[in-house]
Amino acid sequence: MSPAIDETRRTIQAAAPAGTQPLLSVSGLTISFRQRGQALEAVRDVSFDIGPGEFVGVVGESGSGKSVTALAVMGLLDPRITQVTGSALLAGKDLLTLGAQELRRTRGRDVGMVFQEPMTALDPVFTVGHQLTETLHAHEKISRRAARERAVEMLAAVGIPDPKLRYSAYPHQLSGGLRQRAMIAIALCCNPRLLIADEPTTAVDVTIQAQLLELLQTLRRERGTSILLITHDIGVIAESCDRMMTMYAGEIVETGPVGDVLENPAHPYTIGLLGAQPSLLTRGKPLTTVPGRLPRQEERTSGCLFEPRCPAALERCARDRQELIELGSAHTARCWRTHDLIGHTTAGGAR
Ligand code: ADP
Ligand code: MG
Repeated sequence: MSPAIDETRRTIQAAAPAGTQPLLSVSGLTISFRQRGQALEAVRDVSFDIGPGEFVGVVGESGSGKSVTALAVMGLLDPRITQVTGSALLAGKDLLTLGAQELRRTRGRDVGMVFQEPMTALDPVFTVGHQLTETLHAHEKISRRAARERAVEMLAAVGIPDPKLRYSAYPHQLSGGLRQRAMIAIALCCNPRLLIADEPTTAVDVTIQAQLLELLQTLRRERGTSILLITHDIGVIAESCDRMMTMYAGEIVETGPVGDVLENPAHPYTIGLLGAQPSLLTRGKPLTTVPGRLPRQEERTSGCLFEPRCPAALERCARDRQELIELGSAHTARCWRTHDLIGHTTAGGAR
């Protein structure tokens, strides 16, 4: 890792508030989908906190339960097919028990969300400006003129050139990068305390990706927004986040300050993801995945879910699942071999 990036990360970590009340506190979050009379568990007993102004990354391959976790927190899962248990306290208020009306008020005002594909969030038949002012009117008593001014300011704040002109543009008239920025502008226009960004840079090229990550950093710095960034690219987390969580098959398998986890990964899956990343400085490259695949929900056993793919597995791993073990300074990992692995660069090497 280059000294420059290392230095940036140190500054960010130092800026993260310590010992303050978490803004978001998720506890024991379990999510099942009802399918053909069966309840299939997609996320199991997930707990994490995000502090005010903290930038937290979630990494894991496709299907690990990252989006479902975010959607549950936003109250966006269809209750007819999902069962969600646990709690998600936002400044003390449980988002999982809010009624529809309160949830609508919370979304946008307290929590903003951006997705991988901006066209799922932007309405193609309305101008970007209209969508921004609608959002403002939905949450605040504000005159049309003031809303328009705020919208243009917001477009400028997310780095959209000629914001007055772009105010009147329809989504299809913008490039992919600008659409992504417009979506961020809408998510942030009511100044939410938390932004959840689900793979916001996956569909854009490397240059735009770098610009968007920088934009998130700036917004966090200038507005104190807490950010939960979901990605399958551990390089993105290395560049941006204070803290990270690795998810595997619906569970958190490792958490910790980004520097600690990247320098001393303590779960074979995180080690695999790092090994799969040709260089942490090469952004935007797809992972050359860890060999094997995620177990389907019906294949999940009482043992470690990563065991079938794990180069460091012991006999007991197939039988018993480990709890998250505290390794010091908020670094935790769910692995029987954590203490052997820590300090090694490849899981296979610790065999
Ligand atoms: P990620 O975002 O990490 O790629 P997701 O959170 O989208 O993964 O999905 C996690 C798992 O949840 C999927 O592998 C799938 O099994 C299950 N899942 C997601 N959406 C549905 C759905 N609508 N119906 C049934 N199962 C679903
Ligand atoms: Mg996803």
